[in-house]
Formats: sequence, C-alpha cells, structure tokens
Amino acid sequence: MELPELLVKFKEYAPHVDTTAIELAYEYSVNAHADQARASGEHYFVHCSAVAESLIELKLDMPTICAGLLHDVLEDTPTTPEQLRKEFGDEITRLVEGVTKLDSLHFTSHDDAQAENWRKMMLATAQDIRVILIKLADRLHNMKTLQFLKPEKQERIAHETASLYAPLAHRLGMFRLKSQLEDLAFQYTHREEYAELSAKMEALQANRESVLANFKTTVEQHLAGTNIPHRILARTKSLWSIYQKMLRQNKPFEEIQDSLGVRVITDTVSNCYALLGIMHTLFKPVAGTFTDYISVPKINLYQSLHTTVMGLNGDLVEIQIRTEEMHRTSEYGIAAHWRYKSGEHGQDPHLEEKLNWLRQWIEWLQDLKSPREFLESLKTDLELHQVFVFTPAGEVKALPGGATPIDFAFSVHTDVGMTCVGARVNNKMVRLDYQLKSGDICEIQTKKGSVPKKDWLGIVKTARARSKIRHFLREKGIVA
Ligand code: MN
Repeated sequence: MELPELLVKFKEYAPHVDTTAIELAYEYSVNAHADQARASGEHYFVHCSAVAESLIELKLDMPTICAGLLHDVLEDTPTTPEQLRKEFGDEITRLVEGVTKLDSLHFTSHDDAQAENWRKMMLATAQDIRVILIKLADRLHNMKTLQFLKPEKQERIAHETASLYAPLAHRLGMFRLKSQLEDLAFQYTHREEYAELSAKMEALQANRESVLANFKTTVEQHLAGTNIPHRILARTKSLWSIYQKMLRQNKPFEEIQDSLGVRVITDTVSNCYALLGIMHTLFKPVAGTFTDYISVPKINLYQSLHTTVMGLNGDLVEIQIRTEEMHRTSEYGIAAHWRYKSGEHGQDPHLEEKLNWLRQWIEWLQDLKSPREFLESLKTDLELHQVFVFTPAGEVKALPGGATPIDFAFSVHTDVGMTCVGARVNNKMVRLDYQLKSGDICEIQTKKGSVPKKDWLGIVKTARARSKIRHFLREKGIVA
C-alpha cells in the first residue's frame, strides 16, 4: 500500500494524531531496503508496508505503525539502533529492537532452540505487547507470501505458525488473526486435505446462504416491532477448525454436523439476554448447547452468549450474541485495547488490569529453567480447553483442562497452594490428582507448615503451580 492510502486509513481512527513520523518512517524504510528484494521478486519494502497495513487494520497507535514500517531495518540493513534513535526517538526504536531480538535466533528443528526463542518472545511481551503484535503482523505477511519459498522451508514455517503463532494469537484473543494464520498454515502442512476440503466447502456455499437468508428474515420480522438495535452477520468457519473437528470426531466431512454460524450484535448486555430469549422463542434450542460467556468470560477476555437452535427445515444454527464492544474484543483481542477512542488518543484506562493475567502468566513461565519445560508449560497453558471452578465463596477460576485441586489452590493464592493437604469438591473429599470439571465447587484444606511434595510436579497442569513447586523443591535441593 502506498503512503497516501496508509495515511487515509490511519486518519480514519486517529484524525488528530500528527502523522509526520509515519511519513518519515515510510521514506526511511523505502530507502534503507532500496536494493533488496523478497523471494517473490517484489521490492522488499512491499513487506514492510504490508505489515504496517495490518497494524493499521488493528487500529494501533502511531509508534506501532512506525515500528511496523521499520521492523526489518536493524536486521536487514546497515542501520544501527543509534541512528534509529536519533531519527525516531526511544519508543519506536525499542519496538524495532524488540522485534529484531525475536528474529535474531533462528528456529531449528530442535525443541530447545525453539523454546528458548519463545521464552525470549514472552519476555519481550512482558515489556511491551506491541512487539508481539508487530511480530504477528510480520508472520501473517510471511505466510501470505510463502508460496515463493522452497517446499521444505514452507513446511517448517507453516508448522511453526500452526503450533506456536496461531495459539499465541488465540491466547491473546485475536481470533481473526488466529484463523488467518491457521488456514494459511493448513495449506502447507496438509496440502491434499486442504485442497479437498476447500472444494467441498465451496460446493456447500449456496445452501448455507439460503439457510442464512431464511434465518435473517424470520429474526428481522420479529425484531421489527422492538427497539433492540441489532445486526446479523454470517460467521465463516476456518477450514482448519472444520478439519480439527473431523479428526476429533473421526468422521469424514460429509458426516460432520457442521451448522451455520451466525452472530447477532447489539448495544447492551441486557439486550443480549433479551435477544437470547427471542431466539429461543422463535427457534427450538438444542439441549446442552447454551453457554454464558458474558457472566463468565473466557481467560482471554472473550465474551458472548452461545446457543444452537433448530432453524427452518431442521438446519442447525449456532448463534453467538454479543455487544459491539465484545465483538471488537473477540475479533482483535488484546489489540482492541490499543485502539484510539474517537477523537482522543491513548489507551484503555483498564488496560493494565486486563493485561495482568498475561504478565503474571509470563512471570510464572520465567521461573521455569529448562527450555523444554518452558515449551511444555506454554503449550499446556495455550490449550484451548478450560474449566471453570468455583471457590466456596462463589469466585470463579479459569483453569486448563485436566487441572487438579493443587492447580486450583495455587490459583487462589501461593500460600494456599504451598500448604495444601487435601481438597473437597462439591462437599466430597477427593484425591489431589482429581481432575476438576466446570462447575465444581472446590474447597482446599491447608495445614500450617506443610510443604509441596515432589510427586505434585507430575500432577499439576498450570505453569503457575509447577513453577512455584519446582522453585521450592529446588531451594530445598530436592530436585535439580
Ligand atoms: Mn519482516
């Protein structure tokens, strides 16, 4: 994208911000990369401008856009950090340095090296999450232009994207980016399956459109008499998620009950519940499909009401109901909080609070000494399945699937975890390796002076519990 177009798009959400620095960064990057080309044969700068464009799409702030344009100048050109600092100041330079540091170690097929790189990435995130957002935009464009690389390289990069970058985007709540990365990786990690599935999906398109049209007409007619603001969007599911479902259920595409997905977006929380009532009146709900992520949000901030209903002609329709704000958060996740508010600029005042879980998580991860251990914890914590467990006082804790009372105890408080001796779940005594389920009420019994046992390391599922236990055992010389 050319400079004037980028500026127009940026001005749409940040009309009062001075764009001189963006103009300078654009020109600087064009000149710095002047004699370089991408594998596609295109001018190298095309990549830098594409990264900036993605960041503008996320409506990120001015320094992030500048750093996106400049993200490869330290690594790929003779430019030094001192020169960059002189031209663009400290903030932008630190962002570019952050991205460069992440790039400086190349992934190898050895898990340890990959894990070490990831540890660095997470540490950088703790300093400034914008570094990760730039890195994700960089990866997105690299994936879009992957066809120009050799097949072995394509596969390696695609695999890395699927196993680490997409889960990270997911963890940050950036669903749109996550699906894009997954489907791009899918093309290279499972070439034949991808081709087959995309052809089959294509063939179903007309039918889906008619189911959607019927659904919309019924709902619109009913809502015409109310004053509930709403818009109804079709939800395109990623091919990768459908493929995963086929594997999980061990069924061919034709036998997968893949319903049409729609989103109904409104203004307030109370209208979300009003709309839910209306949906359940108009259509027959499918038992066991309702989930309330508004009162109990997911760990990555996601909120919506989910329900599946029987549409006209017996077609299943999966409905997600949410406010505009929840919609933004679900599409852009953490990036949504960097968005400029209309007119003024600056961050969401509650941003720090919202980011706390991320920082804490990274702190726990830092305590893990071996890269392999780190990678394992990272993968576990990135697991999508999670359970919601309640304290006797009704406070909810989100934990990864398979989490035990010990994990729960550490999520309540370190001291509770350290001195935990037993647990009651729903008023019954359970073993400490009991696997908690959503809705369980868990009460931890502690004993003053009691300490973690070595075998707990084989039981716990969360990085937090593992790092605290290991730290204690190491200090006592019980484990290396
Ligand atoms: Mn790059």
